[in-house]
Amino acid sequence: MIFQQLFDQESSTFTYLLASRKGGEALIIDPVLGHVQSYLDLMERLELRLVKAVDTHVHADHITGLGELRDKTRCITVMGEQSPVDVVSMRVKEGDTIDIDGLSLNVLYTPGHTIDSYSFHFSGGIFTGDTLLIRGTGRTDFQSGDPRAQYDSLFNKLLRMPDATLVYPAHDYKGETVSTIGDERLRNPRLQVSSIEQYVELMNSLNLPNPKMMDVAVPANITIGHRQAETLAPDEAFTVDQARGYLESPGIVWVDLREDKERKKEGFIPGSVRAPYPRLETYIDRNSPMYKELFSGAQRILFYCAFGERSALAVRTAKERGLLNACHLLGGLDAWKKAGQPIIS
Ligand code: FE
Repeated sequence: MIFQQLFDQESSTFTYLLASRKGGEALIIDPVLGHVQSYLDLMERLELRLVKAVDTHVHADHITGLGELRDKTRCITVMGEQSPVDVVSMRVKEGDTIDIDGLSLNVLYTPGHTIDSYSFHFSGGIFTGDTLLIRGTGRTDFQSGDPRAQYDSLFNKLLRMPDATLVYPAHDYKGETVSTIGDERLRNPRLQVSSIEQYVELMNSLNLPNPKMMDVAVPANITIGHRQAETLAPDEAFTVDQARGYLESPGIVWVDLREDKERKKEGFIPGSVRAPYPRLETYIDRNSPMYKELFSGAQRILFYCAFGERSALAVRTAKERGLLNACHLLGGLDAWKKAGQPIIS
């Protein structure tokens, strides 16, 4: 397995790059905008293909690299369902998994630092975001922070993990890089409380100054969505109103780009076929059996996904491969459902 812990000096942020093997698919957690090129260089050296970029929460101290990584690599952006960001490709919640080839992260909802704070557990440890830091916990005094929720996330979720579980936080300000659940339970001063009230009192008495980047970072980090309509021609991007007329058209193939587990959870548009986004290239290769089976007689290929981000990127990829008849559904299945259109679940 490939595991790289990278560090941003300015905001003391840890970014994690994961892959099951050299030459395989990669996932990145909490990338920082200023380091995007160095992540891309590193992945090139390791022959990795970035498939997913994940943020543990909306950061207030640095600008996320999610949008830039998506624009450069067409990877899938992932955040929690409570996140106030305008658009990400995939939203997860407690109990979900985030999967790439050979690697799976279990999703834990651990609010408190922010309302959209998540932790991700895998075979090698747990990424705790700003919920649990080494000898500290993330502040709870802005961005819908809530010390009560954080107490619950810490004591009823994270500290229930086995003692030996390795803890990889989103920040460290003192030069530490990794801890364990057992060590934090024993030595983290914030965790030496005897009740939820005591924890709330402790967190409410910190009186910390706001992060210096906050006024820039938060607005930037909640508007990271790919501009689905503006980057495409009008006949390449359809609103639900425009697209629903095509539902019965025999020459139009509706293509669901989402993963199996998203289809099971959310349902799908009647008559649509599947082409999982990470394997798009093989599906749109004119010589592939999948292409011949699904698209050979198609007048138009209409991609859709969860929120319209993967599908907008898929149109660009398809056009570059010479599939000039590709188009997509703006806003994805989310917009389709909100407009009361038919779903098979
Ligand atoms: Fe934070």
